[in-house]
Amino acid sequence: MEQQKTDDRYMKATRANLVHTYDQFPVVIDHGDGVYLYDDHGKKYLDFTAGYAVNSLGYDVPELNRALEKQIRKLWHVSNLYYNEVCGKAAGALLEVSGMDRIFFANSGGEAVEGALKTARRYGHSKGKYKIIAMENSFHGRSMGALSVTWNQHYREPFEPLVPGISFAKFNDLDSVYALFDDETCAVILEPIQGEGGINVATKEFMEGLRRMCDEHDALLIADEVQCGMGRSGRNFAWQMLGVKPDIMTMAKAIGSGFPVGAFAMTERVAENSLTPGDHGTTFGGNPLACTAVLETVKLFREKNIPAHVAEVGAYLQARLDELVRTRVEVTARKGVGLIQGIQVNVPVADVVNRALEKGLLIIGAGSDVIRFVPPLVIGREHVDEMMSILESSL
Ligand SMILES: *Cc1c(COP(=O)(O)O)cnc(C)c1O
Repeated sequence: MEQQKTDDRYMKATRANLVHTYDQFPVVIDHGDGVYLYDDHGKKYLDFTAGYAVNSLGYDVPELNRALEKQIRKLWHVSNLYYNEVCGKAAGALLEVSGMDRIFFANSGGEAVEGALKTARRYGHSKGKYKIIAMENSFHGRSMGALSVTWNQHYREPFEPLVPGISFAKFNDLDSVYALFDDETCAVILEPIQGEGGINVATKEFMEGLRRMCDEHDALLIADEVQCGMGRSGRNFAWQMLGVKPDIMTMAKAIGSGFPVGAFAMTERVAENSLTPGDHGTTFGGNPLACTAVLETVKLFREKNIPAHVAEVGAYLQARLDELVRTRVEVTARKGVGLIQGIQVNVPVADVVNRALEKGLLIIGAGSDVIRFVPPLVIGREHVDEMMSILESSL
């Protein structure tokens, strides 16, 4: 029976049950341990993808397993008709690390973005403001609202018409944002570090300029921290590194260490002037299992001092990648910060990714010509060295 499961025909047949929305790699991942994943033949892979920047604490983390096992026996779901204590505690934990005042739990990054957009629209409603400025090369998710602020035409075009009132400015170009601003603008949304769009870090000046423009026009600044947040930049959230506080921020991917959970948070001023009972809701959001994952994740981040570790090992990864830019003609630039890094290459990204996979390294692309490195945040220098040697032989 076990043997049959690993059979290619079995894999093809079961895979055919799924809607064909992903061009998947020809491997079946079976389990994980630390920063390594294992396929169904027992082959070991060094993981520099972390399930799309999700599994920041690595795999099979005893503390997380124990906390979830305990909550499984207590309560899985109760709905938002009733308050559950772990939800309030998880909210408090995330607010403490994010510096925001109020939070709403959703189930994914896309949902967090939807909630953030709705909050901004609700805020602007009484003032006749509804327009939203997003950025070129942005990615905010696949639901209709999130897709409407996502730049990539390939994702958008088949689903048009999308949400009206949205325009795109150039990332890190204040004049291009200013040109789009008017009295009907209720919000500007950006990723402080663009992930899918190719690992582009916002400059301090850009963030400061956006802050000023939003204040002048009574519009809200939304930071989408779904990918770059939760320690990956070397700070809890990337806006803290850039020194400009948003009015609303989204988070998801890493906040539950792999348990599906997202959230959007806001300042008290926005909370008091936007959503009211009945304006927004979710059946599963804030459920005790997801909130246990969040609570334990934040606790472990604090205990292990993850942001400081990221700053240190991230600097090492960055130096090693910079070295590659100098020594390899295939590598034209390095981008990113902490443990959200990318290299721009002049060879097909897919070829490098596939060769690395064969050699036991998981990496992914970002944008059209960037190889992305978003490993579990608990990697050490020895993992960076192991990755670099496989990467160099895969270029
Ligand atoms: C992944 C991502 C999303 C969407 O999250 P999902 O959980 O896939 O819906 C939104 N924003 C950013 C910046 C992301 O990287």
